[in-house]
Order: sequence, then structure tokens, then C-alpha cells
Amino acid sequence: MSKFWSRTVQEAEPYVPGEQPTETDIIKLNTNENPYPPSPKAIQAMEDSITSDLRKYPSPTAERLKAIIAEREHVTSDQVFVGNGSDEVLAFAFQAFFEPDQTIKMPAITYSFYPVYANLYDIPFEQVPLNDDLSIQVDGLKQSVGGVIFPNPNAPTGLALSLSDVESIVQANPAQVVIVDEAYVEFGAESAVALTTQYPNLLVTKTLSKSHALAGMRIGYAIGHTGLIEGLERIKNSFNSYTMNRVSLAGAEEALADDAYYDQVLSDIVVTRDWVTERLKGLGFWVSNSKANFLFVQPVGIEADVLYNELKAQGIYIRYFNKPGLTGFVRISIGTDDEMTKLIDAIENMV
Ligand code: PMP
Repeated sequence: MSKFWSRTVQEAEPYVPGEQPTETDIIKLNTNENPYPPSPKAIQAMEDSITSDLRKYPSPTAERLKAIIAEREHVTSDQVFVGNGSDEVLAFAFQAFFEPDQTIKMPAITYSFYPVYANLYDIPFEQVPLNDDLSIQVDGLKQSVGGVIFPNPNAPTGLALSLSDVESIVQANPAQVVIVDEAYVEFGAESAVALTTQYPNLLVTKTLSKSHALAGMRIGYAIGHTGLIEGLERIKNSFNSYTMNRVSLAGAEEALADDAYYDQVLSDIVVTRDWVTERLKGLGFWVSNSKANFLFVQPVGIEADVLYNELKAQGIYIRYFNKPGLTGFVRISIGTDDEMTKLIDAIENMV
């Protein structure tokens, strides 16, 4: 602690990011990255963007990227907000739509950045317990005082809500903003984007980190009613009007134009996820019916922390999950077939 810290810094309870080891000869299945490279066209576009033009500021409005996203999502550009990863978009949304005296709701087991933002902006929050099968309790997210946030699919469980359940939560919070975080939606859940034209209180966030293998470029966006998007722009322009850099913009624009490449990547990951699920179930493990690019797993015959540590000793990184009310789980990101075969072999040698 430094005597120069403001009260905000003193009271901050920052998010602890997953391990980012520097060794290159490891199998990294701990932070839900895409195991495949970004589209070659996106890489080329980013390389081409590294010119003397970098002396100039990027477009503060990112109008080209917004137009591309708008066309894909069947909305207009003024219903699109872009930012430096969906983490930044979410942070702006907490500031823009939630109030310090109105309790928001979120699932008790969910993306752990939400309580961090809530604490940072002094927003009280209620953590709604999951159902016994670890799915999100839909009724529990209804009738909030100050708004709602949840991921679909949820993290770390990977379990998805149906679109009708999502809609019922939006309908049951008519005077509050409901944020649906669709960081993993492309791996098999139903997107709520189409509902945004109907519900002015619904904001859907997405990212190119997972589906488009661009976590390193930090590209995220939100879709919502123009009123919500205008609110986000006000916050962004009060903070850093150039949040997205020229290289990220170039990569995002080209990545979103290469559906042929990404459709293949997504379907490969889903196929891998499904066979890994079956193999782990074959070992007697409990495995979530994941619609994301990771599995939530309760090992049997070996403690979760032992499994995590033994795999780490062999250069295979997964995430150990330990929270009050839910212990004994690990989260495993889906890698390539080769990586997952090595993981399964290593686990089979332990149990
Ligand atoms: N939402 C969820 C549920 C996530 O797991 C993540 C990634 N950790 C994010 C949002 C943020 O992703 P990014 O900032 O890379 O877009």
C-alpha cells in the first residue's frame, strides 16, 4: 500500500487473471483461448496495418468495424458499441447502467469479473444461487431492483439457457438493464441479439477473443438499443475516446469477413469438446453439458486440486475451481485434438 493510493485503489478487490506461463512447450488449457491461430487473412491485415500511419490516431468512432458488425448481426451501426475486449465493454456497461444504491443480480457462480466491477463502482449485488444441476436459476434473476448480468453460456459451467429463458429474464426486469454476456455463444448457445430490437433494456456483449482466436488483440462489442449504445459512448468518450487501436481494428474487420475459416475452427472445437466429454465421463467424472469452449469437470477418484497440480507438473495447465459453496471442480479449455489426447492420457495414468 502506498500513501498515495486513493480510497478507490485501497478498497479495490481486483480480478485475479488465469496463469499465463511464459514457457512455450506447455499445453495451455486454463484461460479458454482458441487453440487455433486467427484467420490468415486477419493476420495479414494486421501486418499490413503496421505502417507509418500508426503515428495517427485511430478512428474514435470505429465506424467501419461497427458497420461490419451491424451487417452480421442484422442491426444498424448505431446499435453497436466496440471496445478493447468485452471486459472493457462490460466495465463501461456497469458504469453506464447500474447505480450505487440499487442492487443488481448475478448468478452466484459466474464470471468473477462481475463482482469486481460492482465493487469498483460501489454497486450492491445479490448473488443468486445456481440450481442443483448447476444451471442458472432463471426465476432468481427476475424482478431485480437495479439490473441483471449473466453470461450465456455461463462460465465456468458452460451451461446455456434457452432463448425463451433469457427473454423471460429480460421481460421480468422491464425498468432495468439486463446484460447478457455472450463471450462463448458461438460454441453452441442461442444468441439473444435478435431480441435487442424488441427490448430497449437488453444489452448483449460479445468478443472476438474466443470464437475468432483474437484474445491477444482485445476486441469486444455490445449490441443494444440506440439509447444504451449512446450511454456506452458517453462513458467511453469520458475515459479514452480511442480505446481500439489501428491494428486491432484492421484484424477485427478482416476476421469478421472470413466466415469460411472460422466456421471450420468452431466446428472442430465442438467435435473435440464432445469426444473429450465422453472420454472424461468414461472415467466416471462428472462433466457439464457445455455449450462453450471449455468443460466444467468434477473428477472422481482423484481430488481436483491434486489433478490440477499433477497436470501442471507435466506441463498441462487447467484451472482449479474452488469457491465457497462449490468445491472440487476443474475447468478445462478445449485445445486441439492432439493436446486433448495428451490430457486424457495423462489423466488416465493418474486415476
Ligand atoms: N465474459 C466471460 C464470461 C469471459 O469468460 C471472458 C474471458 N475471460 C470475458 C467476458 C472477457 O473476454 P475478453 O475481454 O477477452 O473479450
